Amino acid sequence: MKHPSQPVLYIVIPCYNEQEVLPITAPLFLQKIEQLAAAGSISPDSRILFVNDGSRDKTWEIICNLAKSDPHYLGISQSRNRGHQNAVLAGLMEARCRCDITISIDCDGQDDINAMDKMVEAYHDGCEVVYGVRSSRATDTFFKRFTAESFYKLLNGMGAEVVFNHADYRLMSARVLKEFANFKEVNLFLRGMVPLVGFKSTSVAYERHERLAGESHYPLSKMLALAFDGITSLSVKPIRLITGFGVLVALISFIGVIWAVVQAVLGHTVSGWASTTSIICFVSGVQLICLGVIGEYIGKIYMETKARPRYIISERTWDEEE
Ligand code: UDP
Ligand code: MG
Repeated sequence: MKHPSQPVLYIVIPCYNEQEVLPITAPLFLQKIEQLAAAGSISPDSRILFVNDGSRDKTWEIICNLAKSDPHYLGISQSRNRGHQNAVLAGLMEARCRCDITISIDCDGQDDINAMDKMVEAYHDGCEVVYGVRSSRATDTFFKRFTAESFYKLLNGMGAEVVFNHADYRLMSARVLKEFANFKEVNLFLRGMVPLVGFKSTSVAYERHERLAGESHYPLSKMLALAFDGITSLSVKPIRLITGFGVLVALISFIGVIWAVVQAVLGHTVSGWASTTSIICFVSGVQLICLGVIGEYIGKIYMETKARPRYIISERTWDEEE
């Protein structure tokens, strides 16, 4: 399919309590749009779409003022905080019928805005999805690097297909978004879901910077929750591993029983209540963990069957009829 020579680009930016950083980064996004439009690689009708994710500070006020100051800025507000993934989805779904391509990016300036040049170039070369991939994590602490690397390894090991070092900085064409809209799951893990849509894709490397202002909303606990969510929403491998482990334990116990019977026939008594209790305790612990994993899947099924809306937009910076 031939791509338009000057596609309308919507930059989708989730914002949660970002009053410090937004006034710094918003003009950078605008400059990027103007620069790409001046170069003729996108349409001058391109827009920056902020998604206010139920912020408690002045974020929405700032977005409304930006929208008044320049027609390139648009904003939607979620009725409450629903999390980064849902905010990105809300923005993408809002943008998809108005544009040819979207680029989702965080609002804190950590992801190099200049990588958009190469993303748009890749789109012109025929790609429908372009993943922004962090080339180095020099600005991250050793701990963050280690946990992030383990996170990707674990995800891939568990059968969830994710692009290494790619977060949610990516270009998607309207065609991909149209198909993506059919992925109705409530448990969102976008970076694992997007590769499932298919179409021609590529990666663009970029340097990850420090946050320009404000604080991260992803402490370790939230990262772990995201990792666990990612695995359980994309793969049933943990349940298979449990089955495998069960078979292994059963096999070992069976060999143990045979050994004990043989010993008894030979007239030896197998002694040791301590070892028996510790084995029982160990296996009970493992069983509880397994139940927890299965419970996690049941919880997910429960949430999915309710099929609650994944985002609710309460306000827009423009009139809906427009
Ligand atoms: N964010 C959001 N909703 C939330 C938490 C975060 O929309 O509940 C946004 C946030 O404003 C930022 C992006 O998601 O634009 C990434 O968050 P953050 O920079 O805090 O995460 P980190 O880069 O530290 O992993
Ligand atoms: Mg950040």
